[in-house]
Amino acid sequence: MNYQNSLAFAQEQDNLDPLKHFKDRFYFPQVNGRDAIYFCGNSLGLQPKSAQMYIDNEMYKWANYAVEGHFKGEEPWFNYHKLLADGAARVVGARPQEVVIMNQLTVNLHLMLVSFYRPEGKRIKIIMEGGAFPSDQYALETQVKFHGYTPEEAIVELFPREGEHTLRTEDILQSIREHGEELALVLMGGINYYTGQVYDMQAITKVGHEVGAVVGFDLAHAAGNVPLQLHDWDVDFAVWCTYKYLNSGPGGTAGAFVHERHANNPDLPRFAGWWGHDAGSRFQMKKGFMPMAGAEGWQLSNAQILPMALHRASLELFDEAGMANLRAKSEKLTGYLEYLINDVHVGKEVLEMITPRDPQARGCQISILVKQNARELFDKLMEAGIIVDFREPSVIRVAPTPLYNSFEEVYRFSEILHACLEGHS
Ligand SMILES: *Cc1c(COP(=O)(O)O)cnc(C)c1O
Repeated sequence: MNYQNSLAFAQEQDNLDPLKHFKDRFYFPQVNGRDAIYFCGNSLGLQPKSAQMYIDNEMYKWANYAVEGHFKGEEPWFNYHKLLADGAARVVGARPQEVVIMNQLTVNLHLMLVSFYRPEGKRIKIIMEGGAFPSDQYALETQVKFHGYTPEEAIVELFPREGEHTLRTEDILQSIREHGEELALVLMGGINYYTGQVYDMQAITKVGHEVGAVVGFDLAHAAGNVPLQLHDWDVDFAVWCTYKYLNSGPGGTAGAFVHERHANNPDLPRFAGWWGHDAGSRFQMKKGFMPMAGAEGWQLSNAQILPMALHRASLELFDEAGMANLRAKSEKLTGYLEYLINDVHVGKEVLEMITPRDPQARGCQISILVKQNARELFDKLMEAGIIVDFREPSVIRVAPTPLYNSFEEVYRFSEILHACLEGHS
């Protein structure tokens, strides 16, 4: 695409954008009396205006039906999580029975590790990204110890080559092959939270399986951001949160995917609870756990209706917009951001984009390494009404989402960035 560094160009792109009206379906935080330029959907997505109505419905049922809400009405709470499976499955490229919405991300990661990290003999190792999101690091570290190993002997962290910021696919695959028979699990992000790099999930899964390992992904930054085909890629399991690109509210509910090759196997070890027990006999309160078929068999507790109501509001918007349309816009929008950052002519030497240049290897986030006074530049941007986020030691993450951001906002961001860089040292 031929981009231009002008407001007129940006506005023309917005006029041509078939998704432009989705912006009006969200609330924007106010800074200095106007809508902020919100490029922080990678951390907390905006509130859909429809969310309140979904919450109100459940509050009404609680007020008027109380306990009978579990079974009464068109959308009884007993099966409420099922209302989310189709939409969530479309977002991650799965069959509905392979997906369940429950708990939160780190909880789901532990539940999946209980089933899928089964070290045995010399096959005890886990390959993961070096410098992964801390929750993932802690989860893996403690799972490894739980099985009686030390992180040093069991966890293999992958780091970029000297002088590079992102991992090369060939190096990831090479490492998987090298550890071969010692490898129990490959657990990577779908997208690295820091650099915004999309990993080649299909290739990683294939090579992981070739050496006999299980392959899972943490899709915190991928779900709702890039197209996923978990079923077809033959991924064993995955987890994600819903409050980032999926706009389902702070501390929102989360997702888990279990490939159908495993999901219907009642003998897979797991930590169980009553909500994963066969629905037909759940209320007989009998001894002996019998898992539901599919990913639902990993549920522990009765459904968190309010966070799930928020997630429904958001999934409906994703269905309306369509992941393919969102991705098409996202590539242009992020490409425009990259183009404008490259076009900075004052203080350019201070900035380095560490996100891959290849659009296929990134989602909507561009991470900018700021080589001097990073925190100061970040503060100036925030004061000027741009909401982005800062990751220690010196990275500003900028994430224009295709659902509610515009080309004009990307343009305005670059203008403000220019202004902030004047005199920045
Ligand atoms: C956001 C994020 C988390 C957060 O975990 P919660 O359990 O939702 O608090 C975990 N892992 C990654 C990779 C993330 O990006």
